[in-house]
Amino acid sequence: MKSGLRDKILRRFFVDKIRAKDRTCTITGAEAKHIAVVLSMGPGERLILMDSDGSRFQGIIESISSREVRIRLEKSLPKPPSSPIEIILCQAILKSRPMDYLVQKTSELGIDLILPFVSERTVIRLDKGRLANKMRHWREIAYNAAKQSNRRRPVKIESVCVFKELLAKLEGQKALKMVLWEEEEKRDLRNLLESYPRVKKFIGIVGPEGGFNQSEIATASVAGFTPVSFGNRILRSETAAIAMVSVIQYEWGDLSLRNL
Ligand code: SAM
Repeated sequence: MKSGLRDKILRRFFVDKIRAKDRTCTITGAEAKHIAVVLSMGPGERLILMDSDGSRFQGIIESISSREVRIRLEKSLPKPPSSPIEIILCQAILKSRPMDYLVQKTSELGIDLILPFVSERTVIRLDKGRLANKMRHWREIAYNAAKQSNRRRPVKIESVCVFKELLAKLEGQKALKMVLWEEEEKRDLRNLLESYPRVKKFIGIVGPEGGFNQSEIATASVAGFTPVSFGNRILRSETAAIAMVSVIQYEWGDLSLRNL
């Protein structure tokens, strides 16, 4: 069996830091309980350890309890290649389930950063406490999606800001910048892609369930974001975001075997 394929089958777990010279690594806390109780793994079973530097090791479980899993490191594995394009998704926050779905799917598709924001027609309104819970929840989804999809590290998710702050944050960043707008009549994603050679950094803005108003689109245009249509059908926000990321990752990224 091709080694790459076997590595794709073994279960993967993130740890803070792998120190190769220690020859062992210990997982504690919720992840240890998950391995011991939920997955019922045991001594002698193999798994893959990954840390935030992208280091990867195949290891074998030496001892296990619901508090601590001790792993003997067997061999170092190649880091998964990262996409040749950096993708930043600026997403208006959505109701619970569509937002969870969006975080999971865009994580699997290999984006680098999610900048959640609130705009005029945002439907869901969260107070400070609920917002903190939501951030924890989205980061947990991103963590599990990173394990499942063999990413180097989970997608980064920054704190929620308002639309104006988002544009200020992105000012001066060298990238292809676009905003998905269903009322755009001149420019669509295909012409935008055709008018640019391969780009290394892409920043795309997707609106809330209620869409953007004219003045938000005008402000985004002044900030260097090109309004772009995705055709005549009105897509749900999460669908538009996933489709946009898929097209960019296919066109300029790694949704292929090209780089492997
Ligand atoms: N305001 C719209 C309405 O209800 O008629 C719908 C907004 S749509 C559900 C949510 C977001 O998805 C939009 O703000 C836009 O960013 C994106 N979107 C959906 N369909 C699109 C399309 N055909 N072209 C460009 N963007 C689209």
